[in-house]
Amino acid sequence: QGPVLIVGAGHAGFQVAASLRQHGFGERVCLINDEAHLPYQRPPLSKAYLKGEGRPDSLMFRPDKFYRDQNIELIADRAVSIDRAAHKLKLASGAALDYGHLVLATGARNRLLDIPNARLEDVRYLRILDESEALRKRIGSGQRVVVIGAGFIGLEFAATARAKGLEVDVVELGTRVMARAVTAEISDYFQARHTAAGIRIHLGVQATSIECNGADVTGVSLSDGRHIPADLVVVGVGVLPNVELAGEAGLPVASGIIVDEQLLTPDPDISAIGDCALFASPRFGGSLRLESVQNATDQARCVAARLTGDAKTYDGLPWFWSDQGDDKLQIAGLTTGYDQVVVRGDPAQRSFSAFCYKSGQLVGIESVNRASDHVFGRRILAVKGSIAPEQAADIAFDPQGGPD
Ligand code: FAD
Repeated sequence: QGPVLIVGAGHAGFQVAASLRQHGFGERVCLINDEAHLPYQRPPLSKAYLKGEGRPDSLMFRPDKFYRDQNIELIADRAVSIDRAAHKLKLASGAALDYGHLVLATGARNRLLDIPNARLEDVRYLRILDESEALRKRIGSGQRVVVIGAGFIGLEFAATARAKGLEVDVVELGTRVMARAVTAEISDYFQARHTAAGIRIHLGVQATSIECNGADVTGVSLSDGRHIPADLVVVGVGVLPNVELAGEAGLPVASGIIVDEQLLTPDPDISAIGDCALFASPRFGGSLRLESVQNATDQARCVAARLTGDAKTYDGLPWFWSDQGDDKLQIAGLTTGYDQVVVRGDPAQRSFSAFCYKSGQLVGIESVNRASDHVFGRRILAVKGSIAPEQAADIAFDPQGGPD
C-alpha cells in the first residue's frame, strides 16, 4: 500500500497518525507540520490557556517521545503541491515525498477583516498557539478591547478579557450572538450573562474602520456612525478552509475539499478530513463542512480504519462545546433546520437545555451547565432516537431512566 503522508498536524492529522499505529499499520507514516510546535490542542487557546499561565507543553497531544516510539515522522515543513500521477508530495523545502495514500488535514485559516487599518499590529486573530500566547501577554497590559464578531471564539475571548479586567465591547452584524450556530434561547442567555459581566454587546452593526494614531489602534468606527475607543481589536469573523493544495492538484473543491461518504476525494489515493473537508453525509443528507474537534478526530479514525482494511461510511454524531465565563455550552447533534424548540430546566437557575425538533423528531440538544442532557443527547441522537417534546419539557421526567 505504501507510505501514508498526512498534510497538517492539527486535531485531524495527529489523530490519523496515532490511529494508524493503533490499528497496527506497519508502513511509513509522515505528519507534515507547518507550525513551529509539536501537534497541540486548539480549544484551550481561547479558554483556559488564554486565561492562565500554562506553558505551551500543556497543550501538546503527546510529547516528542511518542512520535519516536510510534515511528511517526514529524516533518517540519509545508506541503506546496501534489503530483498525483507520480504519487509525490512536494514540500516548501524542495523535498518530495512518495505516498501510497495522502490525507489532507489542512484545516482552516482566519477570514481577515477587510476594512481600513485592519493590518495594524493590534488588530489580532485567534487560531494558532502563537496568537494565543501573544494575546495572553497583550491582555495583561491592554485597557480597552473591541471584539469584532460574536461567534464562539469572539465571545470566549471577550469573557476572558473581561475577567482579566479589560473594558470589552463586542460588535456583531447579526441580530443576536452566535446566531448561525445556536437557538435564540441560547443566544439570549449568553447575551444576558455577558452583559451582566460588564461586556457591552452591539448587535446589528458593522465595524467600518479601525481608527489609529500612527501604528497605535485608538478605536473602531461602526456603521451607525458611532466610534468605540480601544487599544486592541480582536477579530473573530469566521474561517476559510484551506483548499488550495487540493484545488491546484485538480481535485474538486467548493466550500471545502469535496469528499464522499468515506471521506475520499475522487482520487482513490487521497482523503480529506476535518475543518477542510466538505463531506457527503448520509446522516443529514447533502454535504457538510464542520469545525469541531469531534468532527476532526472521528473522521481521522474513520480514515485510519479504512487504510487498515475496515472501510466504513463516516456517520459520526456531531457534538461541540464552548466555555464562556463560568458557563459551559454543549451541543449534541446539528441544531439547524429545526421547527420547534423545547426548553428543559431554567435559564434563571443557569441550568437548562434547548431540545430542537424537526417534524417532531429530535435533531439536537443545546445545553447550558446541564451535562446530563448533553450525554443523553449524544446517546439518543447517535441511534437517531427521539423523546416526545412534552417529556423533554417535563423536568420530572428522567430521559436517562435513572437519577437526573
Ligand atoms: P486545524 O486544527 O486547523 O489543523 C490544520 C493544520 O494544518 C494547521 O496546523 C495548519 O497550519 C496545517 N496546514 C495547513 N496547510 C498546510 C500545508 N500545506 N502544509 C503543512 N501543514 C499545513 N472545537 C470544538 O469542538 N470545541 C471548542 O471548544 C473549540 N474551540 C476552539 C477555539 C479556538 C481558538 C479555535 C481556533 C478552534 C476551536 N475549535 C473548537 C475548533 C477546532 O479546534 C477545529 O475544528 C479543529 O482544530 C480542526 O482540526 P483540523 O485538524 O481539521 O484543522
